[in-house]
Amino acid sequence: SSNSSKKRTLGNLGIRRKINQKFIPPIRSNSGSCDEKLPAAVDESLKNIDPKMVTLIKSEIMDCKTDLMWDDIAGLAFAKNAIQEAVVWPMLRPDIFTGLRRPPKGILLFGPPGTGKTLIGKCVASQSKSTFFSISASSLTSKWVGDGEKMVRALFAVARVHQPAVIFIDEVDSLLSQRSDTEHESSRRIKTEFLVQLDGATTDSDERLLVIGATNRPQELDEAARRRFVKRLYIPLPDYEARLQLVQKLICNESHGLKDEDIQRISSLSDGFSGADIKNLCSEASLGPIRSIDFNLIAHIQASDVRPLLMEDFEKAFNRVKSSVCPNDLEQYISWDKIYGSGF
Ligand code: ADP
Repeated sequence: SSNSSKKRTLGNLGIRRKINQKFIPPIRSNSGSCDEKLPAAVDESLKNIDPKMVTLIKSEIMDCKTDLMWDDIAGLAFAKNAIQEAVVWPMLRPDIFTGLRRPPKGILLFGPPGTGKTLIGKCVASQSKSTFFSISASSLTSKWVGDGEKMVRALFAVARVHQPAVIFIDEVDSLLSQRSDTEHESSRRIKTEFLVQLDGATTDSDERLLVIGATNRPQELDEAARRRFVKRLYIPLPDYEARLQLVQKLICNESHGLKDEDIQRISSLSDGFSGADIKNLCSEASLGPIRSIDFNLIAHIQASDVRPLLMEDFEKAFNRVKSSVCPNDLEQYISWDKIYGSGF
């Protein structure tokens, strides 16, 4: 093909086969299912894509092992239900969700950092038996300098081969911001390629690709981006009940002496914390028992002699770990949600 004469910018894969040698099938990965369902048409779909990039995507961006249940995500009942109905069931039963029931191909999750947007993306993939691809949009402009545009094309091509697939794009604002016009030519090209791919995924109704964009700065998205993410869902900070669930879950495998009312108090005191902040708080508290051990004994002490986690450890942890989210930002999310949110 005409392609064979083209220079590969990232070099070829290390293995070369002579023309008259017998075909050697690629080795199956031990880890399991990723490559097992590959159809014979793979070669065709990826023929214009740099094999080195395909390898990279499979090793760094593709994830087909994570097993996540909805119950692993605390709170967010409303978002979880909405997403299940809008995209998970349709991915499992494309034969029923046709015509008017056809699912959106792009959804946006917005809200403060550390609230479970990535978890939701992983859970959607896991529950819809899809392959999960996760990339941070800023890495397209920084890590893959000069190759960002090709990377976007390769990513969608590999995802098509591994359908059904969920492509999770973190920090999507950095890719689709209003400011891109004033930025470098290369950023603009990445943005254009991304929009082209997104539109391709949207118009081809047989393709089982879902693009989930996540952002902490929805107000930076331009009209073109909003239009492509048909469903826009606010992922807020955890409420009291969700914080309670989170704390219970985080300490359930630790030896602790916390009473129900202690856990309730931790949940009240952590008002304004994100899920990630709560995790940090619990990790910090869990070091309390260790810090209470005499420094000279630490190398020899029996694990069973480490004292259980207590409320005083949490009292101290609250002095060290603070909420990472600014209350003013919350108002911005709420007002953006009022104008552009789907509310489902
Ligand atoms: P985001 O993508 O919104 O920035 P993540 O989904 O990456 O946040 O969450 C970061 C970490 O915080 C998770 O790995 C998890 O440990 C914890 N976390 C945040 N929100 C939740 C939640 N709702 N339920 C369970 N864990 C959560």
